[in-house]
Amino acid sequence: MNIKTNNKADILIADHQVDSLKLLSKILEQQNYQVRQAIDGEMALMAVETDIPDLILLATNLDKVNSYDLCRKIKENEKMANIPVIFLSNFDEIGGKVKALEVGAIDYLIKPYRQEDLLGIIKNQVSLSLKIKQLQEKHNSLEQKLKLLEVSQKFNQKIPLESHLLYQAIAATNNSIIITDATAPDYPIIYVNPGFETMTGYSFEEVKGKNCRFLQGRDGQQPQLEQIRHCLHHGESCHITLRNYRKDGSLFWNEMSLSPIKDEADKIIYYMGVQTDVTDKKRANKEQQRYKASLQKMNRELHELNQKLYRLANLDGLTEVANRRCFDETLEQEWKRLTRDKKPLSLILGDIDYFKRYNDKYGHLRGDDCLKKVAATIAKATLRPADLVARYGGEEFAVILPDTPYEGAKQVAQRILESLRSLKLPHEASEVKPYVTMSLGVGTINPSAQTKANYFVDEVDEVLFKAKKQGRDRLIGVDKQTS
Ligand code: GH3
Ligand code: MG
Ligand code: MG
Repeated sequence: MNIKTNNKADILIADHQVDSLKLLSKILEQQNYQVRQAIDGEMALMAVETDIPDLILLATNLDKVNSYDLCRKIKENEKMANIPVIFLSNFDEIGGKVKALEVGAIDYLIKPYRQEDLLGIIKNQVSLSLKIKQLQEKHNSLEQKLKLLEVSQKFNQKIPLESHLLYQAIAATNNSIIITDATAPDYPIIYVNPGFETMTGYSFEEVKGKNCRFLQGRDGQQPQLEQIRHCLHHGESCHITLRNYRKDGSLFWNEMSLSPIKDEADKIIYYMGVQTDVTDKKRANKEQQRYKASLQKMNRELHELNQKLYRLANLDGLTEVANRRCFDETLEQEWKRLTRDKKPLSLILGDIDYFKRYNDKYGHLRGDDCLKKVAATIAKATLRPADLVARYGGEEFAVILPDTPYEGAKQVAQRILESLRSLKLPHEASEVKPYVTMSLGVGTINPSAQTKANYFVDEVDEVLFKAKKQGRDRLIGVDKQTS
């Protein structure tokens, strides 16, 4: 946690939407966090560089530097790499989560998320990053001391253990320091500091003259031990993490820097091991991973639920093509988009011929079955991914064909008629054919802000009516592009 006068965890929120930025800031301030805000990626980066926050909430909509690039930049910077970053997205963008995790985010939440969930994740992450930071600081200070020792060694003929200042530092540190004799067989311990005694439970008297391997107990098959042997053999230093055991048998993770100490003739006379108990850090990492896995599972389930909800809201329960609501929304959206892009929009409205008689003759259940088959036939006859087939009403269907000229739309309509004819679903009560047929109205228009989509739908409905009047089982078109 940043050392701030008010001692609050510092959270940076970056969101292009000012309203949600304000709302989230308020919620977090009420939870006693110190909040900083950024409305674009550039501002966010500047804020992080000025003062490293304890956690970043990153909306996916940032300008100038986009959210994913921003996260990558932060993670590439050694000083900032440990800041937990949580992405907040307004919608379930395909691949968004994977992308966010790839650039180093610890999580990716999709709105609407529960406020308690977000606060829970933040609380957890802030306390984890606090622990990691404390360990890091401990580790850094120890490394500093080790460096000091190595440097001073160059200027002294003997190891300056008698140097008062240095001795005090070694005695005072919580980390454990061991010195072994490199000139005697099997590297016996000649010194351990009080930090070692506290960390392991062994006194200096108990370990004096022993080789350090007793700290591994019966756990002597760890691959890192090979690394130590290699370093000893080549007179190099190394930095490893080992499983060690205290005097009471309990396990701790020991992060150790092992360095040779040479005399003036460049002969290695001692080895110094500086050790940090990183059990908490390991546990924190494990917890973080477990937490991440359960969050991922939760997100997967949420995603599936969202899909189900989407289907419920947008698909017709019987025929499984889009429902009327989805049709209305899509038409409005496409109308606006094609107005902007100055591209044509075509619409097909279809109505099954003599369907009332079909129900009367074959019953309502077979009527439903027929509707499903007709819907599937229409869907099969429309080929482009952007085309939308919808159930417009009882036995009426609609097809939106964005960016499709009049001739193309007529082709699609013709294909629908022919596919249905070739299906030959028996309809003995029909006056047109002894099987199910449809009448279609087809229209094409260049959408504009001056015209309403509804008027266009009415015009296509009128030509559908004409098709009915002129004998059914046919299509009639109206090309509004030229008028
Ligand atoms: P036209 O050729 O003029 O279109 O004649 P039609 O009988 O198809 O026209 P009308 O609009 O009078 O009748 C539509 C019928 O469609 C009414 C109803 O019996 C039937 N229908 C509407 N929705 C459903 C449905 O969900 N299931 C079933 N089985 N029938 C439906
Ligand atoms: Mg009808
Ligand atoms: Mg009908």
